[in-house]
Amino acid sequence: MSGSEVDTVVIGLGPGGESAATTLAEAGLNVVGIDQRLVGGECPYFGCIPSKMMVRAAHLLAEGRRITGMAGESAVTPSWTPVAQRISDEATTGWDDTVAVERLGKAGVTFVRGHGRLTGERTVEVAGQTFVAARGVVLNSGTEPAIPPIEGLADTPFWTNRDAVQVTDLPASLIVIGGGAIGAEICQAFARFGVQVTLLEVADRILAPEEPEASSLVVDVFAREAIQVLTGVTIGSVSYDEGRFTVDVDGQTLHADKLLVAAGRRTNLTDIGLDNVGLDPEANSIQVDARMRAADGLWAIGDITGKGGFTHISMYQAGIATRDILGEPGPEADYRAVPRVTFTDPEVGSVGITERQARENGINVRVGVTNVPEAARGWIHKAGNDGVIKLVEDADRGVLVGATAAGPNGGEVLSLLTIAIHAEVPTDSLKSMIYAYPTFHRAVEDALGKLS
Ligand SMILES: Cc1cc2nc3c(=O)[nH]c(=O)nc-3n(C[C@H](O)[C@H](O)[C@H](O)COP(=O)(O)OP(=O)(O)OC[C@H]3O[C@@H](n4cnc5c(N)ncnc54)[C@H](O)[C@@H]3O)c2cc1C
Repeated sequence: MSGSEVDTVVIGLGPGGESAATTLAEAGLNVVGIDQRLVGGECPYFGCIPSKMMVRAAHLLAEGRRITGMAGESAVTPSWTPVAQRISDEATTGWDDTVAVERLGKAGVTFVRGHGRLTGERTVEVAGQTFVAARGVVLNSGTEPAIPPIEGLADTPFWTNRDAVQVTDLPASLIVIGGGAIGAEICQAFARFGVQVTLLEVADRILAPEEPEASSLVVDVFAREAIQVLTGVTIGSVSYDEGRFTVDVDGQTLHADKLLVAAGRRTNLTDIGLDNVGLDPEANSIQVDARMRAADGLWAIGDITGKGGFTHISMYQAGIATRDILGEPGPEADYRAVPRVTFTDPEVGSVGITERQARENGINVRVGVTNVPEAARGWIHKAGNDGVIKLVEDADRGVLVGATAAGPNGGEVLSLLTIAIHAEVPTDSLKSMIYAYPTFHRAVEDALGKLS
C-alpha cells in the first residue's frame, strides 16, 4: 500500500478526536488529525458552549425578573438587556479554530483540513494525500442536525442549532420543532429574551427520554413563561412566504417569523468509506467493543457510537481508545452511570436508567420522589424553586440504578447520584450519610427516605 506512513490517523476532530490526537502525539506517536470544518467539532462552536452561554444570558434575565416575586415590587423587566446581549453575542463570535489548530501543532499533531475517507484497512485519503496508519485509525466524525421529512420544510430558510446560536437580532416569534434537550433549552432561552415561542413535539411529552416527572415539571414552568407546548402532534407541512413561516399542525395553522428544527441528529457516516473496511455503510452508528474497537486497526468514539450524544461521552471514549492504542492498562467502557443534563431552568440532571426501563429490565424496583419546594432549601429559595428528585432503586441489590435531580443546580446535585450509581454505593450507606443543611442536594436524603 502506498502513502505516507504514520502511526495513527484521526478522522474528525470533535471533542474526543481532538483529545485522542493530542494525547497520542504527546505520547510520541506520529499522528495525523483531519477535520473538514472546525477543530473541536460541534460543541465549542454550535453546541454545548454557545447554547449554554445563551442559556446563561436568558436565565440571568429570568432571575432578575424574579425580584418582583421576591420583593413584591417591579424590578427588572427588560427583555434583552445589554448584559444578555453581550453574553449571547460572545457565544456567536468565536468561530475561528486558529487556537485549536495551534494547540494541535504544539502537541505534535499534523493537521489536515479536508474530508477524510477510509480507502482500506488503516488507510485514509484526504485532500489528495494518502496516509497509512501502522497502529490504526480513530473515527470521530460526529453528527449533523437531522431534518425530518416534513412536506415543504426543505424549501424554507429554517434554522438549525447552527443558525440559532448566530442570532444577533431577535425575531418576534419562533416555532421550535423538537422538544428534546436542545429544543427545550433554546426555546426557553428565546422566550426569556422576549420572543413568543411555540414548541412542537411529536412524542406525547417533551424530554421523552427523561422521567415523566421531569417532563411535566418543565412543561409547567414553560406554561408559566407563556411558552406554548404542543405534544403528540403531527406536522402536516411547512411553508415560507414574505418573511413568515406557516406550519400546519393537526389541522391548526401556526405562524412565526422563524422556525428552528431541533429534531435529533444524523451521524456523519456516509461517504467515509465504511464499506472499505468491512463495515455496513448504511448503519446509523458504529458498533464498538468496550475498548472502542470497531474493526482491526479501527477505533470509533463519540456520537457515532450511539452510546450517548454528549461531549463527556466523546472524551471518556477517547481516553479508553488512546489507552488501547498505546497498550496501556485501564478500565473498559462502562455506561451504567452516564450522566446527562438538560440546561433548562429548572435544570434536569439524570443518570442511569428510568423507572420504566428498570421495570422493563425485570428489576425489583423501589422509587423515592421528593419535590424540591418541600425540602428546606427549596422552601427558602422561593421564586424559581421548581424541582423534583426521583430515585430508582434495585431493591434486591440495595443500590440505585437511576436518578433524576431536577431543580436549581440540578446538574450539580446530580454528581452525588452519579457517584452512587457508578460505585454502587449501598442505599443504606447513602441513608446514613450527613447531608449539609440547607443545601439542594439534601433533598436526596428526603427522597431516600421515601423509597417504597
Ligand atoms: C445545540 C447543542 C447543544 C449541546 N449541548 C451539549 C451539552 O450541554 N453537553 C454535552 O455533553 N453535549 C452537548 N451537545 C452534544 C455535543 O455537542 C456532542 O456530543 C459533542 O460535540 C461530541 O460529538 P463528537 O465527538 O461525536 O463529534 P462532533 O462534535 O460532532 O465533531 C465531529 C467532527 O468531525 C468532522 N468530520 C465529520 N466527518 C468528517 C470527515 N469525513 N472528514 C473530516 N472531518 C469530518 C466534523 O467537521 C466535526 O468537526 C450539544 C449539541 C448541540 C447541537
